[in-house]
Amino acid sequence: MNVPLPMAETTTCDDVPVLKERGQHEVFCGLTGILWLHRKMQDAFFLIVGSRTCAHLMQSAAGVMIFAQPRFGTAVIEEKDLAGMADMNTELDRVVGRLLARRPELKTVFLVGSCPSEVIKLDLHRAAERLTGLHGPDVRFAHYSGSGIETTFTQGEDACLNSLVPALPEKTDDTPELLVVGTLADVVEQQLTRIFDAIGLGPVRLLPGKSSRALPPVGEGTRLLMAQPWVDDTIRSLQRRGAELIRATFPYGAEGTEAWIRAAARRWGIDDAVVDAAVEGPRARARKALARHRDALVGKRVFLFPDSQGELPMARFLSRELGMELVEVGTPHLDRAHMEAELELLGPDVRLSEGQDVDRQLDRCRAERPDLTVCGMGLANPLEAEGLRTKWSIELVFTPVQGFEQAGDLAELFNRPIDRQQRLRF
Ligand code: SF4
Repeated sequence: MNVPLPMAETTTCDDVPVLKERGQHEVFCGLTGILWLHRKMQDAFFLIVGSRTCAHLMQSAAGVMIFAQPRFGTAVIEEKDLAGMADMNTELDRVVGRLLARRPELKTVFLVGSCPSEVIKLDLHRAAERLTGLHGPDVRFAHYSGSGIETTFTQGEDACLNSLVPALPEKTDDTPELLVVGTLADVVEQQLTRIFDAIGLGPVRLLPGKSSRALPPVGEGTRLLMAQPWVDDTIRSLQRRGAELIRATFPYGAEGTEAWIRAAARRWGIDDAVVDAAVEGPRARARKALARHRDALVGKRVFLFPDSQGELPMARFLSRELGMELVEVGTPHLDRAHMEAELELLGPDVRLSEGQDVDRQLDRCRAERPDLTVCGMGLANPLEAEGLRTKWSIELVFTPVQGFEQAGDLAELFNRPIDRQQRLRF
């Protein structure tokens, strides 16, 4: 049975007031996005042009994965480069030459800027052009910034995908095609594309896909669905190339996933009954999996710090599907056009904050003493030491959480700290 979402009965997103914070940030930089992007695009390499600090961040975040065949590395800017005593471009050419000699299968090399490369004003656009001249057409060079000055950790993915948009081929006719934008785990991708197949919606293309060279065409007839809430700039660039954005929630939880699929199906003119038949089984499994966690989470108070940009859809999932009470929902950046469907479901009473002023947010969190705080890793330990239960928001980015089959896993991520606390009490 189709359960219609009460979007029209709630509010318009412009009604929701927002506390704007413009203070100190406590988030990872955009380099972190490489950790999930390099697994997806299997013929690409991410060459960070950065310092030893950047290399250490990536190594500790990636852990043991770097001992396998790595698809990312760092061209280290030494002190003599920073002091202007050496030409970093020469060093970059040498590192790239060595990389391609060892890894001839690579098709795209992303030059990823960092804080140090910005400080010495290294022109990565020109470097990418020069290297394409040296190694193209077999290898293409793209560039984007993952610097902590310009990006927070999920914005790195947006910057990377946005750097690919100019390379997307022009669509040659206006037949409708769905382009899903944002990295999804393979298992999630397969499940969601199976449902689109079942309802007769297609062709479905993905950005990013497995190959950095087999890029989807874009133009009239391209209809976009955001798979991740942080691909704002990429969406705007695709719209400038003629694509149309389908207004939808994000595919978190049973409700969000169903609404996401249904929004696309309606744009295709597919009957609701066809969608009902395709989602009935997975939706029932998702609801059953959620029920196992709802009893433990219902009525619990949750405070979300602005960190991943996924906070609004997560908050909607926590309040509407698990019955949690939202104390405050922070987001690094609020793009109302892309969050419209989520804001409508959250309703006008939610306390929203945009941007960060970490000390003030910590004060509010401490005053509220929520049952669960979703925050960055740097804030979690001190809050745990003060007796608050926390969940690292980065876990919600690394774990496959979208779609019906993952809804239970997503709920479990929030339930785990609460459950651990209960067990420690006895
Ligand atoms: S890019 Fe900047 S913030 Fe990120 S690891 Fe390097 S120096 Fe640190």
